[in-house]
Amino acid sequence: MGKPGPYDWLTDNKEGGQTFDEYIGGNPTVPTEDRKIIYVQPIGKFTAQQSQVIETTSDYLEAFFGLPVKALPLKPAPPKLKEPDQRIIDYPAHRQLRSGYLLEKILPPLLPKDGAALIAFTNEDLYPDPTMNYVFGQASLEKRVGVWSLYRLDGQATFDTFLRRTMKIAAHETGHMFSFRHCTKYECVMSGSNHIAETDRWPIDACPECMAKIAWMNKEKPLERYKRLVAFAKKYRMSEAADFEKKQKAVS
Ligand SMILES: [Zn+2]
Ligand SMILES: [Zn+2]
Repeated sequence: MGKPGPYDWLTDNKEGGQTFDEYIGGNPTVPTEDRKIIYVQPIGKFTAQQSQVIETTSDYLEAFFGLPVKALPLKPAPPKLKEPDQRIIDYPAHRQLRSGYLLEKILPPLLPKDGAALIAFTNEDLYPDPTMNYVFGQASLEKRVGVWSLYRLDGQATFDTFLRRTMKIAAHETGHMFSFRHCTKYECVMSGSNHIAETDRWPIDACPECMAKIAWMNKEKPLERYKRLVAFAKKYRMSEAADFEKKQKAVS
């Protein structure tokens, strides 16, 4: 991890990180045999490109965490809601849903009994509270549900950038649901991010220390994980395939 720039996460947030020992010593939330499925819940309408990004991201989560990922049937967007569960903002005029409304009221009943976590994707813009303009996504660690908006991720971005942003945010927030704290040691998918340019800088994968947490959580060897990631990257012809292959060799 290099020195943070003036607008970067670590400049605003003095965090100590989380070593492997701190992680396993902290009684982390881990998937169990009867509760290990990551559910993906799409909410509202999506473009064909957005649907493709959600599908690829779901595949990535499966390879990244080594847990089965299942898609739940699409739910329509909520109808017109009372303030503050929705608000209308300008430029351009559109609705924003309060993320807490989804996290507290809508998503928890949708988490099946065998679900380790439920991740909702929506094209609706989100806001967390009246002091903030918007939020990309938010998770409730206690309820094991999270929601991410694609609304602000694909503007001015190529498909590849849009895809990687979505993959990183999904892996990062799901990592939080499994008790991973922000990574401050390496440039890592678990590093905090203050703005989209910082997210763009992080790699899609976990660093060696965060990777060890995933391997411990799954009781598997790192080699198994990298084999899955190599297969994933090759399937989608992603440039990260070479990096995953290098890591696979290193742990063979
Ligand atoms: Zn985070
Ligand atoms: Zn890390």
